[in-house]
Amino acid sequence: MRFTDFDLDNKIQNALVDCSYLKPTPIQEKSISHILQGRDVLGLAQTGTGKTAAFVLPILQQIIEEPKTLETGSVRSVILVPNRELCQQIVLEIQKFSKYINVSSLGVFGRVENDVIIEGVKNGIDIIVATPGKLLSCIDEKLFNLSSLDYFVLDEVDRMLDIDSIYELKRIVRMLPRKKQSLFFSATITDKVTEIIDELLDNPVRVEISRDSVSLDNISQDLYYVSKDNKFRVLLSILKKREVKSAIIFINSRKSADNLVRYLNNNEVHSEALHAQKSDVHRDKVINNISFKDTKFLIATDLGSRGLDIDDVSAVVNFDLPTNAEVYVHRIGRCGRAGKKGLSYSLCSPEEKHFLNNIEEFLGKKLIVQKHEFHLEKARHVTGSAAKPQYKKKKDMKNKTVSKTVFEVNVNDLLKNKNANKKKNRKSSLTKVK
Ligand code: AMP
Repeated sequence: MRFTDFDLDNKIQNALVDCSYLKPTPIQEKSISHILQGRDVLGLAQTGTGKTAAFVLPILQQIIEEPKTLETGSVRSVILVPNRELCQQIVLEIQKFSKYINVSSLGVFGRVENDVIIEGVKNGIDIIVATPGKLLSCIDEKLFNLSSLDYFVLDEVDRMLDIDSIYELKRIVRMLPRKKQSLFFSATITDKVTEIIDELLDNPVRVEISRDSVSLDNISQDLYYVSKDNKFRVLLSILKKREVKSAIIFINSRKSADNLVRYLNNNEVHSEALHAQKSDVHRDKVINNISFKDTKFLIATDLGSRGLDIDDVSAVVNFDLPTNAEVYVHRIGRCGRAGKKGLSYSLCSPEEKHFLNNIEEFLGKKLIVQKHEFHLEKARHVTGSAAKPQYKKKKDMKNKTVSKTVFEVNVNDLLKNKNANKKKNRKSSLTKVK
């Protein structure tokens, strides 16, 4: 199948040629015609499958087919995403696809100033890409309204269901006009997601890109059994492999991320850390360095890496195994994007074997064990409590009977930092098109 089969406007087709998009990815192939027919769509697909173009292209096509005069503050489409990085990326994609057409769009997230938003919606606006909290605060401040909304997209919904986002999502869904087209994209469906689907979608077409086509087909999945202490050395040898040209290295806590950067830098491997405690300026600098290839290796926590779309990351390393099996798929999906080959390496110490078992059960297959200098056969056979992280008691905790796993403590730290950062970063930059 080719993009010309969709009957998209020539100006959109020309923009696609400029982007070197020659043929649609499976999610694009399966969704675009339904969306063009006006159907609600429930898309199950990971990041990296090309789902942005799957919803942006048919929305652009419909906007130019049915031009409307918009009043001040009215919005034709809203694309809701979990974080500002994704927001900026989607605005950039819209910008590329609408190069030859007259469609206005605006990124609305934490740091964007009210003045910029007011200016952006002065003549109405075709597309707003926003984070839920910022969208709500703009509506509360009456900067714009959703009463003439035609298209509503929820993207990466399963990544919005933490903290207070679920409440924000439900509030937004309830303020939408009845007559609209809704598109919903998520990698997984949970009970919380189902509630929103029921409220939002009207007889949707369900489009699913199987997990296999994302994580199993074009990404190798190697497994290294190793002690916790030897992980550093194993990582070093992986990063020195000729085929590992650039990598995202996932780690479960920000403190360990900073330690790892120090270790690698001491061993002449330049890397940078990206976690939720880093400032927006630092995050922008790191992402910029990665995109322009000054930094080949990025050490990231799951929260810190949300919304990252860096082209051409050749490998993903799970320095720590994720405690949640679905997160494994999200992580390794950072390489092998849009059909390219990807490499993934997972380091498993004895106390992580339980998480490995869950991942392999979730995938329905075993990762490929690679023997190496520091191979630890014991990690393969460990069971019971030895296959789980040890419970740590907080030193200064008054109630000595309460204990938390290392993982819980780290996640709470990250969430605290995320909220602190949110408050700090109220100023913002904008990306506006036409
Ligand atoms: P997404 O899942 O939308 O974040 O897209 C992942 C990556 O695939 C991005 O870098 C896109 O630019 C790229 N991409 C999306 N669709 C296509 C296509 N049809 N052909 C080539 N690259 C694509």
